[in-house]
Amino acid sequence: FDKFQPMIDLRAGLLASGVEDPFGLVMEKVLSPTVAMCNGRETILLGTYNYMGMTFDPDVIAAGKQALDDFGAGTTGSRVLNGTYQGHKEVEEALKAFYGTSGAMVFSTGYQANLGMISTLAGKGDYVVLDADSHASIYDGCFLGDAEIVRFRHNNVEDLDKRLGRLPADALKLVVLEGVYSMLGDVAPLPDMIAAVRRHPNCMILVDEAHGMGFFGPNGRGVYEEQGVEKDVDFVVGTFSKSVGTVGGFCVSNHPKFEVLRLVCRPYVFTASLPPSVVATAATSIRKLMHAGEKRAHLWKNSQRLHKGLSDLGFRLGTETPQSAIIAVILTDQTQAVAMWQALLELGLY
Ligand code: PMP
Repeated sequence: FDKFQPMIDLRAGLLASGVEDPFGLVMEKVLSPTVAMCNGRETILLGTYNYMGMTFDPDVIAAGKQALDDFGAGTTGSRVLNGTYQGHKEVEEALKAFYGTSGAMVFSTGYQANLGMISTLAGKGDYVVLDADSHASIYDGCFLGDAEIVRFRHNNVEDLDKRLGRLPADALKLVVLEGVYSMLGDVAPLPDMIAAVRRHPNCMILVDEAHGMGFFGPNGRGVYEEQGVEKDVDFVVGTFSKSVGTVGGFCVSNHPKFEVLRLVCRPYVFTASLPPSVVATAATSIRKLMHAGEKRAHLWKNSQRLHKGLSDLGFRLGTETPQSAIIAVILTDQTQAVAMWQALLELGLY
């Protein structure tokens, strides 16, 4: 454990300075999607990804309760063995309806969806071309598949084009993009990036819409829908842990041979499927999100208001204008960030 000592010391130093232990801070009661009791006080939740407030939707909760009664607490099996219940089929049908695709595959988390899709599509001798700011699950998918990682500068079309140009023409290249990048809350220029990719042979495109689902595009499919590039994207990965309001991950695609992935994708095959209550809540939530125009407009108004307020107060933000529901405040260093976190908590803001 010597290699962890720097982390142990960093944590001890922060706690000694009077900062709250993040693992000690629990939500004693959750009052709504936006308010919880923390340390005995009502606290406004600004850090959740509960974009659409679906965690407390009465239909979603009712569906979960019914599934618990009808199917029990868990499946105790992989999808490939005894883990496929009616609810797993239903949530995949809901995803196909939501995304308008012929295929949908549900994973136990969004992390596993990236891990599974990337490691299965790109193996030894193949290349994964990814944005330097990619989510950890995307990087980990590359490591699991043993593909060569080629990174391009964040949201930089020229750099993407240049790096693709250096790779062997006959090699398989999986290009992984995100609709919304979670650290800065900025949106990818997908049409330009996809046009650059299509100049090179043997490329497939996967877009992670974890933060785009529900919020972007006429049907809430994500940034790739909003920007009109649906036909050019081979695979869309997403999560149930944000707009959908529960837990789980998925991939949707129109690839004619998509179904074979259920047999060859290890993070899909070798893990238990989601509990019936979870897939029932997810299916209900996804179907309701198909008609969530009002919620979307409300979220957009809130994002703009928060961005303007923080910007008027003089904070440096992740983007000059609001681009998504993530409004990042950039502070000078870790000490300042932790002190700010602590001060806000004491004022009732998580
Ligand atoms: N992709 C992105 C871009 C994410 O931000 C996240 C979660 N923060 C995930 C994937 C993983 O999702 P999950 O929480 O379902 O594992």
